[in-house]
Formats: sequence, C-alpha cells, structure tokens
Amino acid sequence: MRKNIVAGNWKMNTTVAEGVELAKNVNEALKGVTPNCDVIIGVPFTHLTSVNAVIDSNKLGLGAENCADKKSGAYTGEVSASMVASTGAKYVILGHSERRQYYGETVETLKEKTLLALENGLTPIFCIGEVLSERENGTYFDVVKNQIEKSLFDLSAEDFGKIILAYEPVWAIGTGKTASDDQAEEIHAYIRSLVETKYGKEVAENTSILYGGSCKPTNAKALFSKPNVDGGLIGGAALNAESFMGIVTAF
Ligand code: PEP
Repeated sequence: MRKNIVAGNWKMNTTVAEGVELAKNVNEALKGVTPNCDVIIGVPFTHLTSVNAVIDSNKLGLGAENCADKKSGAYTGEVSASMVASTGAKYVILGHSERRQYYGETVETLKEKTLLALENGLTPIFCIGEVLSERENGTYFDVVKNQIEKSLFDLSAEDFGKIILAYEPVWAIGTGKTASDDQAEEIHAYIRSLVETKYGKEVAENTSILYGGSCKPTNAKALFSKPNVDGGLIGGAALNAESFMGIVTAF
C-alpha cells in the first residue's frame, strides 16, 4: 500500500547554522513519536551535507529542492542529481511552481530532471498544479494532466512507481488560502485515475499523492482524512519544528 508522507520545503530560507538547528529540532521531536507517515525535509543545496550529519535517516528523510537537467559539465551554478545524491540526500523536489514560474522550468526540462534523479537513486517529489485563472475557468484538470503526461508518462511503470506526486494549487501556495478538503480530494482522485489509465490499478493505488498549499496543523487533519490525499508538502509551516510536527502528527 502507498505511504503517507509529510515533506517540508524550506525554499530559500535559513542560513546553514539555522537550518541545522531546525533539522535538529525536527529530529529531536521525532525521537519521542512513531508517526503514521514518513517525514522528509527538503532543504537548500548548501545545507544538505550539514543537515545529513545531524539527522537520523531512519526517521527523517532528506531532500534537495531542485537538481539540474544535465548530468555534469560546463553549467555554472547548477547542481546535478549525482551531486545531490553524494550528500546523502534521498529525495529531490522537482517542478515546484516557483521553479516553473520564476526559472522557466518546462515539462521537457522536468522530464530530464526526473530521469537524472531516478538514475542517481533519488526519489522525485514531483509537483503539479494550476494557477488561479485555470482553477476559475475550469481547465485545472487539463493543466495537471498535461504536466504529468509530458514529464512523467514516458517512464516505465517501475520508474513511475518510484515517484511521489505533490498536487499544489499555485493560488494556495504561501497565500494562506487552502484548497478545501473536497477540492483536494476531487483533483487527487482525478490524478490517481490518470495514473491508473496509464499504468494500471496497482501502480495507481501505490502512488502517494501529497497536497501542498498553506497546509497547517489546523487544516491538515481534514485534508489527510480524504482517501486520495496521502500527506502534504509543507512550505511556511515547515520552518518551525513545532508547526511542522503539528502536521506530522495530524495523521
Ligand atoms: C510549497 O511551497 O510547497 C508550499 C506548499 O508552501 P506553503 O505551505 O507555504 O503554502
């Protein structure tokens, strides 16, 4: 059966020292509990090695927030999937709407990034989701379908089975506006049906689909109670160990 997962996305926040402190606090809080979900933190590249050194990887997974769409070479400033893997990280967030919106990431570059992540043994947390106008004009089903099909549906069933999906309506990210639990369930069920049509029932049933967008300790329980919502990708609330743990323990 698929896993429940709560993953933090720290974005471009914290110095290395602050990040290590935050990771230590989350790690410490996890010592006393056996959560009903896997717990992951996605941290800036600069933090990966230091954070990896202070966490118990059996209880807390570590991920990057991006990786390059090229293997290696003359790509100044880029960080490859193999570099990420060499830090001890096991996950990589790909296709976050901020990367699509501000850094021009396309369905094609994300396809390359996904392949390189998988080649290097990283589990992609692959983000999809529509902007407000697409929600309002009802095209959001087509938007997520296109994002998944173009970036992921050339994968083998075995490789697709390694992907974690994160549905993140862009209008809910960092805005304090959350999709209602029914809105989340509607689109998560649709996403699962797309996976079933392409890869069959078993792969679809085993795919974890996380919700992201202003998820907090106060709304996590209702969202996670929906049958097709398998956890959360958490931005702002992941920057504080207490609020992050409030979401982890919502399962
Ligand atoms: C995110 O950036 O993935 C996210 C969900 O952010 P927030 O929780 O702050 O809306």
